[in-house]
Amino acid sequence: MTGRSRPGEEPPWIKSRRGGWESKASNLDLHQWLRVHALAMARMPGNRHVTFQPGELGQVLSVVDKKTGVLKPDKNIDRAVKDAIRFGYVHPASTTRCVRILKEDAAYPLFGQEDRPCPVCDRGT
Ligand SMILES: [Zn+2]
Repeated sequence: MTGRSRPGEEPPWIKSRRGGWESKASNLDLHQWLRVHALAMARMPGNRHVTFQPGELGQVLSVVDKKTGVLKPDKNIDRAVKDAIRFGYVHPASTTRCVRILKEDAAYPLFGQEDRPCPVCDRGT
């Protein structure tokens, strides 16, 4: 795919704003797996590996404690990542430390960093 289109045709890619994805990621009404995908889209670097420190993903995607009404880290965020994988929204090798955007969901070139190694899973693709 060249990413080019003929005059009058829709290109095979779109540009989207990180802020729009960030907003969706912070929406507590959405399913956690969808928030995982939205956060990954908001933070996607050129190599499509969105990395997190241990516990960071659950912290960023906090949930409301049903008893207290207060936000708390999502202790089951690994399940949300697995659900995002199951529904085909993120790469099957995604984990809570590295959520990978699917190749078909990104347009190329991605800032010239497609082959940059991932500091978490040490893969460049
Ligand atoms: Zn990675």
